[in-house]
Amino acid sequence: MVQEPIDPHDAAFDAGMCLDGFAQVHGGIVLIGSITALMAPSSGALAPTADERRNARVILGRLKKRYPDIGTALDYVDPWQLLVATVLSAQTTDEMVNKVTPGLFARWPEPHDLAEADPEEVEAVVYSTGFYRQKTKSILSLAADLVDRFDGEVPADLDAMTKLRGVGRKTASVVLAEAWGIPAIAVDTHVKRVTNRLGLTSEKDPVKIEHHLRALYPEKEWAGISMRVIQFGRDVCDARKPRCWECPLRDRCAYPDKTPRPRS
Ligand code: SF4
Repeated sequence: MVQEPIDPHDAAFDAGMCLDGFAQVHGGIVLIGSITALMAPSSGALAPTADERRNARVILGRLKKRYPDIGTALDYVDPWQLLVATVLSAQTTDEMVNKVTPGLFARWPEPHDLAEADPEEVEAVVYSTGFYRQKTKSILSLAADLVDRFDGEVPADLDAMTKLRGVGRKTASVVLAEAWGIPAIAVDTHVKRVTNRLGLTSEKDPVKIEHHLRALYPEKEWAGISMRVIQFGRDVCDARKPRCWECPLRDRCAYPDKTPRPRS
């Protein structure tokens, strides 16, 4: 999958970077194993109508047709590596992260290795991913937290994962869905934009959008939604110039400012 650099606004949704000034997002979802409890007061989502569910199903069906097999382009062998790679992927491409992580994990393979690493040495290894000082801080404290509180094992639980230093809701959802196939929906700037344009939600807050999508789709679909919507946002429903004239969802789209076909 080819990726463009992440939109700067993405970072605001992804507390995984935890750069100074970016908000940590914690929502009202409690995952107990694979059982998900929506805490209604924080979700603000009304139960969708049958028509809304049907429309949502059609939209996802077309995205599945366009992207039958889709997953993260980050290389990893276990949840720990995916978690670190996802934190490193903020504001850079997956391709760039994939160049860096083999060296990183060869030198510090396990959380306890990285927890004790010299920050300057780690900074030198992750330098090319950008924001290398903050990213080093994030992955070192994440590793220390994992060792201290989870015996070095990444918890397969959204609530527990988002309590780790350096891990936000989007990062945790990506890892849950990708590494374990646990139902989770990661909301980034692409998901926010595309789902709003399509009228699947009118919410702007990522946690509320996530709740709306959870209400619209059956749990078995959750893990496959984000990557498809994100890729569609990159390929077709671009932030500045959506390719509406060739969009397979045009007839389902509520966006009023559709881009006309360019004159040849
Ligand atoms: S019609 Fe345009 S705005 Fe609507 S989903 Fe397609 S590309 Fe996006």
